[in-house]
Amino acid sequence: MKRIFTLLLLCLSSLSRSQSNFSADSVMLDRVYNEVLLKGECYNNLRYLCKNIGQRLAGSESAAKAIEWGKNTLQAYQPTNVILMPVEVPHWSRGNNEYGKYTIANKVGSKKKALKTAVSPALTALGGSVGTNGEITAEVVEVKSFDELKALGEENIKGKIVFFNKAMDPMLINTGAAYGGAYPIRGQGPSEAAKYGAVACLIRSLTLANDNYPHTGATRYQDSIPQIPAAALSAVAARQLSADLKQNPDLKFTLHLSAIAYPRTLQANVVAEIKGSEFPNEYITIGGHLDSWDIGEGAHDDGAGIVQSIEVLRTLLALGYKPKHTIRVVLFINEEFGNDGGMVYADSCRAQNLKHIAALESDAGGFTPLGFNCDCNDYQLEVFQSWKPLLEKFSLYVAQRGGSGVDIGPLKKDESDTVALFGLKVDGQKYFDYHHSNNDVFENVNERELKLGAAAMTSLIYLIDQNGMPASK
Ligand SMILES: [Zn+2]
Repeated sequence: MKRIFTLLLLCLSSLSRSQSNFSADSVMLDRVYNEVLLKGECYNNLRYLCKNIGQRLAGSESAAKAIEWGKNTLQAYQPTNVILMPVEVPHWSRGNNEYGKYTIANKVGSKKKALKTAVSPALTALGGSVGTNGEITAEVVEVKSFDELKALGEENIKGKIVFFNKAMDPMLINTGAAYGGAYPIRGQGPSEAAKYGAVACLIRSLTLANDNYPHTGATRYQDSIPQIPAAALSAVAARQLSADLKQNPDLKFTLHLSAIAYPRTLQANVVAEIKGSEFPNEYITIGGHLDSWDIGEGAHDDGAGIVQSIEVLRTLLALGYKPKHTIRVVLFINEEFGNDGGMVYADSCRAQNLKHIAALESDAGGFTPLGFNCDCNDYQLEVFQSWKPLLEKFSLYVAQRGGSGVDIGPLKKDESDTVALFGLKVDGQKYFDYHHSNNDVFENVNERELKLGAAAMTSLIYLIDQNGMPASK
């Protein structure tokens, strides 16, 4: 009887402790949302980053300005310290003269090919492409896959321009998965085409929008394969070229790209820190990537993640919160073209033996947050899911396994590594309309959605800091 009574007491005390934790956590989350929604500075910070600095391709002068801005912005909120961590990055420029053109013969009544029409398709060089060194003019071979390319073989491809006309799969509700499905065409297409003697490569932009914005992004040449120039056509231009090729299979496409690669150069990750009060040697990192592609303003990708990460730090400090663990905000450099910042950061943490308990990234656009993905073990997933009742009040329903972020990825060396990596999960249906294009501008980010993302991130960081993220019971 006595034993049962003791057990009952134990149950009651643990219940009341978790209830008091629950209500204290709930009060704190309300304070976080109040602070961000009423006094948040992330939207104004994004305006400054997009309008006063603009695109910031790693290696460029504007990326250097963005690093300076990031350091000053973080310092103004007075964390324990802010440092620049040197990172070597590539330096590539598209130059300022890229175009495509071709002429088609239209059928007019019975007079076939009586009328010529000049077409200037909207296109942009893929990141890292070589230039054309003058104009390249050649016939075009349209394919949808590497298999089709292989089946055509050298006899049908040599001396021609290969046109990969593959759209992202609209049936996939997860647009990231649709992007992943089409991504190999952009990354490997040029080298695959060059294997069969192609002189240049065109791809359909990776987007779900049916508009005239071309979308750039990294392409990777394989060693020992000739490097051929590569560009993305807008969805509209790709559709038109495909239709024109059906009527004029021997049309000649002229491509001019002024891209050039410079020697690698030194830039930096910006690292701000709030020292932990109880476990100063245990770290939680929050971040996004400061670099963007060189067209548009990098507003969603990833200006949003940058200003949200800064907002987490600002909010915790503004609320007078004293974290138990050391909290770091990292503005990573060069996610887009090699993930140098992410790798240098993880290497530096390992070299200094810094123990990370968790990291969180926002790099899916500044859209309405839905919750979080977690790259973690079973027990950590349980801990994370136990916070769902607190987060659901703010319409954060997703607490599931999934990818976190490219920049924080290297913090996890392998599956035995116990750091839990989180990614802000957002409504990504429109993300690829903007991604890597001239359409990724400040005006296309909604203030409330951006702030809700920052508040969601701050809430998760608070919960991890309060409760820890142990790898087992
Ligand atoms: Zn990104």
